[in-house]
Amino acid sequence: MTSQDNELDKIRKLCDQAGMKLTPQRLEIFKELLSHEDHPSAELIFTKLRERLPTISLDTVYRTLASFDELGIIKKLNISNARTLFDTNIEQHHHFICTKCKRVEDIHWPDFDKANLPESVSALGSIQTRHLELHGICNQCLNKKNKG
Ligand SMILES: [Zn+2]
Ligand SMILES: [Zn+2]
Repeated sequence: MTSQDNELDKIRKLCDQAGMKLTPQRLEIFKELLSHEDHPSAELIFTKLRERLPTISLDTVYRTLASFDELGIIKKLNISNARTLFDTNIEQHHHFICTKCKRVEDIHWPDFDKANLPESVSALGSIQTRHLELHGICNQCLNKKNKG
């Protein structure tokens, strides 16, 4: 069993539990998502899918991604200054965003996740999730710049 089969098995179960019918279109959307290691936008998924599913609409893609997000299969990212992106990695992690090419990379920072929050933060209320957004210039863009 490949890891993709495992993922498909997982999504079938989740849809079943949520009473969501896993239509062939939804399955294709999910497969397309899995083929993107990075953080695809709904528009990108739609553009890729249309090559093999000419009848699919952007609206269907949006609605399906929103449902997947509600089911916890994927995670909708709220990154400032970026169009809505989706993450197939739902484990706790953070993001590095290149301000030049808009690339979004995963960052793992277990020490940060476990760190005690400053009192000024706890004073605001109960914190449920932590998501760091680091902005900078990625190495690819830095290298391009150096080459002129
Ligand atoms: Zn970059
Ligand atoms: Zn991510």
